Formats: sequence, C-alpha cells, structure tokens
Amino acid sequence: MERRETLKRWIGESQCLVFFGGAGISTESGIPDFRSADGLYRQTYQYPPETIVSHDFFTRHTEEFYRFYRERMLWPDAEPNAAHRALARLEREGRLSAVVTQNIDGLHQAAGSRTVLELHGSVHRNHCLSCGRTFDLPYIQQSEGIPRCICGGVIRPDVVLYGEPLEEDVMRRAAAAVAAADTLIVGGTSLAVYPAAGLIDFYRGSRLILINRTATPRDERADLLLRGSLGDILSDGL
Ligand code: NAD
Repeated sequence: MERRETLKRWIGESQCLVFFGGAGISTESGIPDFRSADGLYRQTYQYPPETIVSHDFFTRHTEEFYRFYRERMLWPDAEPNAAHRALARLEREGRLSAVVTQNIDGLHQAAGSRTVLELHGSVHRNHCLSCGRTFDLPYIQQSEGIPRCICGGVIRPDVVLYGEPLEEDVMRRAAAAVAAADTLIVGGTSLAVYPAAGLIDFYRGSRLILINRTATPRDERADLLLRGSLGDILSDGL
C-alpha cells in the first residue's frame, strides 16, 4: 500500500509526466500482448509471429501476412480501458505532456489522449505502395486477401514491421519528451523490443515508475516498482 501512496503523491506533484507503454496496457481491453502466457508468442502458427510480422515476410508472403494480421492484430471492437482513460484525464488536467507507445491499436486516442507518439505506427493508417493513396482501417477489414488500391497497387499498414527502422521524427520527439519529463511512468511493456526499450535511458529524473505484471530486464532502474495490472493501479492511483 505504501508504494501506491507514493505513486499517488508523485503523480499529484508532477507537472510534466510522460507515460511510455506497450501491449500490456491493452490486454484489459481484450487485445493479447506478445509475451504474456496467453500472448501471441505462446500460440502456435505455421511461422513464429515475429517472422510473420516482418518486412521480408510481408514482401514474400503478402497474402499469408494479411491472414495473420486480420485474425490476430486487428481488434476493431476493442474499447479503451481504465488505464487509457486515466492517462487521458491526466493530460486534460495539464499534468501529462505525452504518451509514448509501442502499440498500434489507437486506443489512447480513442480514450481522449491527444499527444500520442506511436513508435510502431498504427493499424488505422494504411497506404498504397504504388501511388501513396491512404486508406482507413475499415477499408482493410472489408477487403479480402491482399488489399489493393484503385490503381492496383498493394496496400500496406503504416506499422513498423520487424526488420524496418522506426520513423526518425517520432523517435526524436519521443526521446525529447522523455528527457523533459519530471516523472516517467513505464508500463505494460516487457522492455524487450529495441530501439523502443532504450527510450527510458533518456530520462534524467529520479521518479521513474515501472508498472508491469511480470519482471522486466530494467526493473532495477525503477525508483518505484509496482507489480500488477495497469487498469487497477492507474485508476486507483489518480
Ligand atoms: P510484450 O508483449 O513484449 O510485453 C507486454 C508486457 O506487459 C508483459 O511484460 C506483461 O507482463 C505486461 N502486461 C500484460 N498485461 C498487463 C496489464 N494489464 N498491466 C500491466 N502489465 C501487463 O509487449 P511490448 O513490450 O509492447 O512489445 C511487443 C511489441 O508488440 C510492440 O512492438 C507492439 O508494437 C506490439 N504489439 C502491440 C499490440 C497493441 O497494439 N495492442 C498488441 C500486441 C503486440
């Protein structure tokens, strides 16, 4: 309980808080993460998910990529949960300056967050590889097989696939936000995917709060470590 009191106090005193999160914040919205016991990496597919969600696989086996992507990575009915809503409220109150996320589901924006830096892109944005025309998520869902543009080109999601670099501008803005933060909350991420996981090294303060269900390789860096569910801890903590 003492830790939760500290969490409340630090958040209450914060004027420039940044949240840096991953797939764990959306599990309570019904979207599986990658590395939990019931995450995608523990399920059996013909190829491991990290192979399917890669640049090479997309290029060589586009139809199979889309079969997996539609079945396992698109969750159009998912709603923001208590954790997404708590962060949106902190931004409205002028306490939180940015959400930096590895997620591609758009749930922070759906909850009302405005400054959301999406390190790995979003399923809500898609473009034609031939002419650059853009498409929304319903277009991808309603298409069959490989989604195609009216020009005949293949459409791809604006999602960073394994083997592709992160967008430089987003990474730069995320690093600047973390460097300027008085308090950094890291949550729902295994901190296993680089370069995103390296972002916490830009934090210069002494209030790094780490909230996760399981241990991470960076637990020792935390000034305050809380083990548990983000929805429960954040809605209780604010
Ligand atoms: P990860 O699957 O590697 O790790 C998720 C972590 O969150 C685990 O350590 C788990 O213990 C913890 N966790 C799960 N539910 C939690 C909860 N309710 N409260 C607190 N902790 C919880 O995810 P990652 O670190 O984000 O990296 C995986 C990659 O997967 C990212 O690049 C991301 O783009 C992608 N991904 C995104 C989504 C999404 O957009 N919702 C879903 C799956 C994977």
